[in-house]
Amino acid sequence: LIRFDKVTKRFGSNTVLDELDFKVDSGKHVTLIGPSGSGKTTILRLLMTLMKPDEGTIKVGGEYLTHEERGGKLVPAGDKHIREVRKNIGMVFQQFNLFPNMKVLRNITEAPVHVLGLSKDEADERARELLDLVGLGDRCDAYPTQLSGGQQQRVAIARALAMRPQVLLLDEVTSALDPELVAGVLDVLRDIAHSTDITMLCVTHEMNFARDISDQVLMFDSGRIIESGSPEKIFGDPDHERTREFLSAVL
Ligand code: ATP
Repeated sequence: LIRFDKVTKRFGSNTVLDELDFKVDSGKHVTLIGPSGSGKTTILRLLMTLMKPDEGTIKVGGEYLTHEERGGKLVPAGDKHIREVRKNIGMVFQQFNLFPNMKVLRNITEAPVHVLGLSKDEADERARELLDLVGLGDRCDAYPTQLSGGQQQRVAIARALAMRPQVLLLDEVTSALDPELVAGVLDVLRDIAHSTDITMLCVTHEMNFARDISDQVLMFDSGRIIESGSPEKIFGDPDHERTREFLSAVL
């Protein structure tokens, strides 16, 4: 479903991703781990087209995200093409980024109505189902500031799912939360991982969560994947000394 081919991303002289190849199959849950600055967030930002790679290609659902085919040639993708491919992708950020002036329900229905063209009734119904899923069925009429950080993040998850994306990107979604609110958000994500067929690509420092939901764990260091495998393998018996060092520092 997702495919990176020789993707390089530089900031000035800093090569953040170095000819990176990887793929994520449909329905799989893949977690990216590794030290700060190793390029994990950059991968999610490339997928959200918040930035472009310097070299290489990215495909989502069989379509190029970075390029489009015109007259049999591959050319850099135009805005319209990017918007179409990106419809398949939802993202939840570290900061919840809810619309502060809109009630919870409208935060969720806004994009389905304006981007997907759903009727208000259809969008409302879908939003209420999703709010039930994240345990906030009774908070439709609240404003974001009336909710705890954990509740706001659960609304952000419902908002991402309302677009029915094939892929959900999660970027350190519990990092900004008070410790006592982390478990509630992770429980919701565990539920979604186990009860839907959505593909997940997740950057997290929550290693127990990564162990629970991942089909595959990718260990990054300096813009490269140095090791990948099942959570049992990576957390239980990693091959690489660097992986062992990293895990002993965070576990
Ligand atoms: P963390 O766990 O700290 O979020 P990460 O593995 O997600 O780390 P990235 O955020 O992908 O790492 O950043 C990789 C490198 O790219 C870092 O050295 C960072 O300073 C640099 N970088 C990221 N975004 C930019 C930017 N917009 N301009 C310049 N440098 C950037």
